[in-house]
Amino acid sequence: MPNEVTVIGAGMAGSEAAWQAAHLGVRVKLVEMRPAVSTPAHSTPDFAELVCSNSLGSDREGTAPGLLKEELRSLGSVVMQCADGARVPAGQALAVDRTLFSAGVTRQVESMSEIEIVREQALGIPDEGIVIVATGPLTSPALAGEIARFLGEEHLHFFDAAAPIIDSDSIDLASAFWASRYDKGDADYLNCPMNQAQYDGFWQALVSADVSELHEFESLRLFEGCMPVEELARRGRDTLRFGPMKPVGLVDPRTGKRPYAAVQLRKENTSGSLLNIVGFQTRLTRSEQRRVFRMIPGLAQAEFLRYGMMHRNTYINGPAHLCPTLSLKRTPRVFMAGQITGVEGYLESTATGLVAGVNAALMAHGAELAVFPRATAMGALCWHVSTPAAGDYQPMNVNFGLLPAPAVSARRNEKRARQISEARAAMSRFMEGRRGHELDR
Ligand SMILES: Cc1cc2nc3c(=O)[nH]c(=O)nc-3n(C[C@H](O)[C@H](O)[C@H](O)COP(=O)(O)OP(=O)(O)OC[C@H]3O[C@@H](n4cnc5c(N)ncnc54)[C@H](O)[C@@H]3O)c2cc1C
Repeated sequence: MPNEVTVIGAGMAGSEAAWQAAHLGVRVKLVEMRPAVSTPAHSTPDFAELVCSNSLGSDREGTAPGLLKEELRSLGSVVMQCADGARVPAGQALAVDRTLFSAGVTRQVESMSEIEIVREQALGIPDEGIVIVATGPLTSPALAGEIARFLGEEHLHFFDAAAPIIDSDSIDLASAFWASRYDKGDADYLNCPMNQAQYDGFWQALVSADVSELHEFESLRLFEGCMPVEELARRGRDTLRFGPMKPVGLVDPRTGKRPYAAVQLRKENTSGSLLNIVGFQTRLTRSEQRRVFRMIPGLAQAEFLRYGMMHRNTYINGPAHLCPTLSLKRTPRVFMAGQITGVEGYLESTATGLVAGVNAALMAHGAELAVFPRATAMGALCWHVSTPAAGDYQPMNVNFGLLPAPAVSARRNEKRARQISEARAAMSRFMEGRRGHELDR
């Protein structure tokens, strides 16, 4: 049997990676620190423990999470198989009985004779051999320190304070205008102007909205970095008008005057399909983000591609270090998988685990690594974590903005239908091209 692959972390990504590599005939050493050492959010010794919600997101055809699930099923993902087997009724979402689900993944991984399970904390990246690091957003501090040393201190983030990202197609441009303050540079910002009555209503809603609870381990760092928008608002009625909603240097072309306040949105990717609400990092619950931020002129129908959040999250600067195969540019024998790459979410982490597991196995076999097509949901995630884009690198859930836009312009639903059909065609071509290779099982 070919060389061993060491997988560190048996969460969503590591379990999938180990199972895929073993399935491709490679001996795997899977290193998991629980139960001897745990994280502040895990509470069982099981693999693929869901640390919060038991929902794995929408399973509806026509959505980006639905497309990702379809691809994972077609590629024989063990996590998807166990999720389908532990499904509980939840409308069009895929929700699972968390105990059954994690027990299922643990059983499947343990049943593979190719996988040796080692229950200990990894304190560093092994000096030799093929390694997959899949230690997640709560990577143990000792290993996080070693990863920082390995990649360069400034390339590891420990905290995620992110503003919501909106699908630009869902914004009503009749209520907003593109401009930069004082018309300097290009018209890089989409400005959503408010009059006094709109501002007062918005401010009231914001200061009284529900926020998600902080975990004890997160509270210390929260206020050191950037302030949540609702906290700023609580400082006084006008604080936002002198902060992220200041209208200076802006003239609303519909009135010819400076608005009373303005929310600005900035491009998150070069095509401009993703826009983030500048300065709106928040702890509002998801339903409150939908309710309150849709009061902003132009955002009444806003589709949230990623919600704002503030939580501990260990992730590397993917585009600086990763290839689309998920191996490190400078040290190709080391792969990264899961949330530590800068994807967000249970199944996005699983998807990168699948890619890293397959590629680590291909490397062990001495075969050429596989680059999943950018037009697929799996490939788009790998592309996101490995390609420099405009603005700061931010973790991302799967969404249509990551997939290439169709060549001809089309209305939103038609555009998505085309993206899905292109993704399906690209995945078929990819699998056809791999026929006779290790991926063909
Ligand atoms: C508080 C919190 C709430 C979240 N809520 C949600 C949610 O509701 N929905 C959602 O989709 N996502 C949520 N996430 C994100 C979620 O963690 C990821 O989606 C997913 O679990 C990441 O998968 P992963 O495999 O990268 O990491 P994990 O699933 O966390 O797995 C990492 C594994 O590595 C192990 N490990 C860590 N360090 C070491 C070490 N040094 N040696 C050996 N083993 C180690 C850990 O014990 C763990 O088993 C949440 C994250 C946090 C922190």
